[in-house]
Amino acid sequence: MPLRIYNTATRKKEEFKSLEPGKVKMYVCGPTVYDYFHVGNARAFIVFDTLRRVLKRCGWEVTYVQNITDVDDKIINKAKQEKTTAEEVAGKYTEAFLADLAALGCEPADQHPKATEHIPEIIALVEKIIEKGHAYVVAGDVFFSVRSFQEYGKLFGKKIDELEEGARVNVDVRKKDPLDFALWKAAKSGEPAWDSPWGKGRPGWHIECSAMSMKYLGENFDIHGGGADLIFPHHENENAQSQSVTGKPLAQYWMHNGYLEIKGEKMSKSLGNFWLTRDVLQKTPFQVLRLFMLSAHYRSPLDFNPKNVESVQNGYFELKRTMERLHEIVRHPMKDDFLADDTAGALDKERQFTYEQFEQALDDDLNTAQAIGQVFRLANKVRQVIANRPKKTYQLYLVFQSIQSYLLDMTNVLGMLPEIQPVPDDLLKMIAERNEARQKKDWALSDQLRDQITGQGYALEDTPFGSLALTETKTSLQEIFR
Ligand SMILES: [Zn+2]
Repeated sequence: MPLRIYNTATRKKEEFKSLEPGKVKMYVCGPTVYDYFHVGNARAFIVFDTLRRVLKRCGWEVTYVQNITDVDDKIINKAKQEKTTAEEVAGKYTEAFLADLAALGCEPADQHPKATEHIPEIIALVEKIIEKGHAYVVAGDVFFSVRSFQEYGKLFGKKIDELEEGARVNVDVRKKDPLDFALWKAAKSGEPAWDSPWGKGRPGWHIECSAMSMKYLGENFDIHGGGADLIFPHHENENAQSQSVTGKPLAQYWMHNGYLEIKGEKMSKSLGNFWLTRDVLQKTPFQVLRLFMLSAHYRSPLDFNPKNVESVQNGYFELKRTMERLHEIVRHPMKDDFLADDTAGALDKERQFTYEQFEQALDDDLNTAQAIGQVFRLANKVRQVIANRPKKTYQLYLVFQSIQSYLLDMTNVLGMLPEIQPVPDDLLKMIAERNEARQKKDWALSDQLRDQITGQGYALEDTPFGSLALTETKTSLQEIFR
């Protein structure tokens, strides 16, 4: 099945076709670097990192650009609060952003362009917009004239007049129309400013994304992504700015993820109902947070609450333990024993089925919720088969080996590959000694060794494929809710 994605611009699921064969160019709006980012912001980063992984796995060569807004009112205000410069604030939180992104298991973008390093490109684009008659200058400010761009509102799915209703609050009297927005802002004293044809000033937020996406990806590229809150006005404005100059829509596919919610409200800095990503990652492995974010369809709202978090966390550790079981079983080579084995045949069919379903789910508008369901289904089957003490056959061994590599692949494409540490040598020695003791029916020694093994943070599971040492994980993300 070809990849289909929901396009906000057409409100339909469409078959994905790249502009250039084999290549995908995508742009995802990045952070305004005035603070650490919260897990609500992390949802977008994880969703689009996963999309990039899925595209790469399908064989596309992906160019991924994510901007960094490093000049903005919020940064300037933070600098005033902290009695430092906007530059210092932006530098500190840019570094923190990149560190936290890596901690989430997200690969860095191919480019993370900064607004302050693209002022000439931004000025050139504003000049072109003015030339084309879509912007006007008022005392050092430049405004985009929304009424001059016929298609304004199309992405958001609203008519200009409907949008106008909402815009009639605190209208800047210098604007010709309440919907007009700033491309360039005249400098105020003490604020970062650059020379421009309209006097000293700084760029508006929307124009930086148009200028930088076009610089790195061209006038018209494949995918533009971000959180649903960016559709209007940010993406509508980005598109208007670019299309008014090039005559082409900025992107072919616009993708937006739903909100992370707390008790039905969007998680946001302004509402104060947020947890910082770095604090959450102190409590749980990043794989749990990724699994949580991907456990719902990316366009659906997702509620961050103790119950949801606990269930995802338990699911992850159970999955990890099953992958440890397979790792331990597969580690010891086995000789071909020619035994007919129905269990192995049935389990292999299950592997094939779940894998097909997994791929189909990802191709269907990145349905990670269903894809994850298949990962769990396969892992649970393996767990059941082992718990039922199957015959130790070569066929079953081979099926376990194959499932192990499939589970590694499936968790890897979701960016949540569990880190499975090899069981330490001294522990393996104790396990071997315990097996010997059991053969000699020396139950006292066997029990003593088991206690020693569990004392080191492992659980022992006796199976026909040997005694497997599984890690006992003690982390609890639920603690953050206390
Ligand atoms: Zn943007």
